[in-house]
Amino acid sequence: MTAPPIAAGLRFSCLGSGSEGNALLLEWGADSGTPLRGLIDCGLTLKELELRLQGHGLLARDLDFILVTHEHGDHLGGVGALARATGLPVFLTHGTHHAAPADSLRGAELVFVKPEQSFDLCGLSILPVPVCHDAREPVAYRVDAGEARLGVVTDLGMGSAMLTEAFQGCRALLLEFNHDLEMLQRGEYPPKLKARVAGDYGHLSNRQAADLLESCLHDGLHTIVAGHLSQKNNSPDHVRSAVEHLALGDRFAIAEASSGLPWTVI
Ligand SMILES: [Zn+2]
Ligand SMILES: [Zn+2]
Repeated sequence: MTAPPIAAGLRFSCLGSGSEGNALLLEWGADSGTPLRGLIDCGLTLKELELRLQGHGLLARDLDFILVTHEHGDHLGGVGALARATGLPVFLTHGTHHAAPADSLRGAELVFVKPEQSFDLCGLSILPVPVCHDAREPVAYRVDAGEARLGVVTDLGMGSAMLTEAFQGCRALLLEFNHDLEMLQRGEYPPKLKARVAGDYGHLSNRQAADLLESCLHDGLHTIVAGHLSQKNNSPDHVRSAVEHLALGDRFAIAEASSGLPWTVI
């Protein structure tokens, strides 16, 4: 069997980021004919996803697959309906499947991925990378299209040497900047929830995210997108001040919760 050609021209667009629903659109291979497209997570309703795809002149049936990071509703909530409507294959870990709400993935074609084992998909090389988060078997994804490398790292309580190693050499990185620790501690969340969010299996604070980013930083990393900002415990100003010392200039952008970000070529 001949291997598919290495994909070229990878680009991505964030369709939604945060607790109201995550979805990241990938497109590649337009140079060599028909572009291919994939989604990482779908925490949006089918109707909402279709609206946001329309903004790019696309329909749900223009997608080729869905990669899922973990079972929380803001990542998985819309996957079943999308898969049933389009027949798209859904890639996920066994743990995510077991922990998914009963029947949520009924009728979907499931393909199981293993953390730390890369696989080829439509000309891309995909590496699921384990993360510490309060889900059964959550992963971040590294996507390679020839020379172009994208990292998508959201929903994790802390960085690790494994993450730093896996995300070296990225040209673009979508990274969770979930909360400002002081805002979280002073805010209105009940103590148990504060402990969960700030814990090792919760979400990254701006400071933790900046440290992880710094460990992956190199001259070729031209696009850094801060995502999954808490609406109650963070603000774009807090995020920007957390990375000020890294002098990122126009390499740095913040994904809006509902409008996301336009296409970025990797
Ligand atoms: Zn999330
Ligand atoms: Zn989560």
